[in-house]
Amino acid sequence: MPDEQPVHIHWFRRDLRLTDHRVLHQAVRSGYPVVPLFIFDRDILDRLENRTDRRVHFIHRQLQRLKKTLQTVGSDLVVKTGRPEGVWREVLSASNVASVSVVRDYEPYARERDQAIWSLLKENGVRLSGYKDQVIFERSDILTKAGDPFKVFTPYAKQWRRHLQESDLESFDVDLSAFQKLDPSPLPSLDDLGFRPVSDLPAADPRPLPLDIIKGYRETRDLPGQSGTTRLGVHLRFGTLSIRELVRLARTANPTFLNELVWREFFQMVLWHHPESVHRAIRPEYDRIEWEENPDHFQAWCEGQTGYPMVDAGMRELNETGFMHNRARMVAAGFLCKHLLIDWRKGERYFASRLIDFECASNVGNWQWAAGSGHDAAPWFRIFNPIRQQERFDPDLHYARKFLPEYGTTAYPEPIIEHAKARERALDRYRRALK
Ligand code: FAD
Repeated sequence: MPDEQPVHIHWFRRDLRLTDHRVLHQAVRSGYPVVPLFIFDRDILDRLENRTDRRVHFIHRQLQRLKKTLQTVGSDLVVKTGRPEGVWREVLSASNVASVSVVRDYEPYARERDQAIWSLLKENGVRLSGYKDQVIFERSDILTKAGDPFKVFTPYAKQWRRHLQESDLESFDVDLSAFQKLDPSPLPSLDDLGFRPVSDLPAADPRPLPLDIIKGYRETRDLPGQSGTTRLGVHLRFGTLSIRELVRLARTANPTFLNELVWREFFQMVLWHHPESVHRAIRPEYDRIEWEENPDHFQAWCEGQTGYPMVDAGMRELNETGFMHNRARMVAAGFLCKHLLIDWRKGERYFASRLIDFECASNVGNWQWAAGSGHDAAPWFRIFNPIRQQERFDPDLHYARKFLPEYGTTAYPEPIIEHAKARERALDRYRRALK
């Protein structure tokens, strides 16, 4: 029999914090005690190939922190493991659930999952509310004059800025006393989940926000040998930092940095309107490109053994740390789909399996940018010269030497493909597909 007292459940997904949280702020006003719930989704966990996946450990550590805070007010975070639909059936039969809230998620898998859960809640007479919280503007908030989604970034960003009101950046306090009193319950260990801990996770709390980096961002953002970017991607991905808090700071501190946050929203918007872009080129003619099947080249790229230091340092940084500098991401991605002519989807999947800040919208969006097939992508005939990129952005070889200890010795590989020849081949192959 369900417990008598009706409750409101907030289902945490990619919003793992208790401060400046729009949806929780509203949830505590539902009039019902709020039960916070997190589900370790077996469908997602089982698909992860690496048992030391940093993201699982990062989430696990954050759940511990949420539990600790909630326990100080006599509540707790309820953590379940399983397939979301099964877990929800169990929750609905064990408790008297009046309403449920979530932060809206725009990824295709999440949308499909949520659709199934919404039907289940509806069948059970449970009211559901989903709101935006992980972006400032979502879905069709920003449209062209003709009422269509933007395809080009610059006018989108202009409209985004024009649209921005103080109320969009409001901070939302959460009244912790409105949470349901609960006996403390254990968190499944990483081992129970089938994972092992890692030793080099990013800090659990993004604060203090790196104001100096943000202020100097324009000058340092392209230099992978320096600590010139914020590394806040993982906190935006898992909601351990409120996007409103970051935009409030960026707006006054540095417009160049704010622009990057708008790129993030642009790609979220594109993914919402093009869920098929996870598998297909947004511009369909790009799916006519005849890609090379070359497992040796792909392996060399994955392992950082191409003989091009900017590509290799980037790939080794990714493999060793779960992070890769943006400049190296651009060069490595361009190298895969232009020099090696390997399908961007393979590279996208490889990044997805390794990046701690993996974000479906940004990853697919940037890979389609690199391949030329996305909205507002790099033109197909623009082919980065990886040697020139090295000279411009890592002239003193700080980045290369950090991740390629054998660089400059005979142990470092010769280029697996010659730049000029690869460039000609790519231009020819793209031209034939797009004519
Ligand atoms: P900063 O440079 O400090 O920027 C601050 C924040 O702005 C980032 O954390 C991110 O949220 C956002 N941002 C910055 N640049 C971009 C961009 N080009 N597109 C979208 N958002 C941006 N970013 C991801 O968050 N997840 C991904 O899976 C991802 N995959 C990428 C794949 C490729 C091929 C490329 C070229 C870029 C990818 N990016 C991705 C974008 C960018 O490389 C990272 O956001 C950035 O390197 C993260 O480092 P940072 O947090 O120090 O960013």
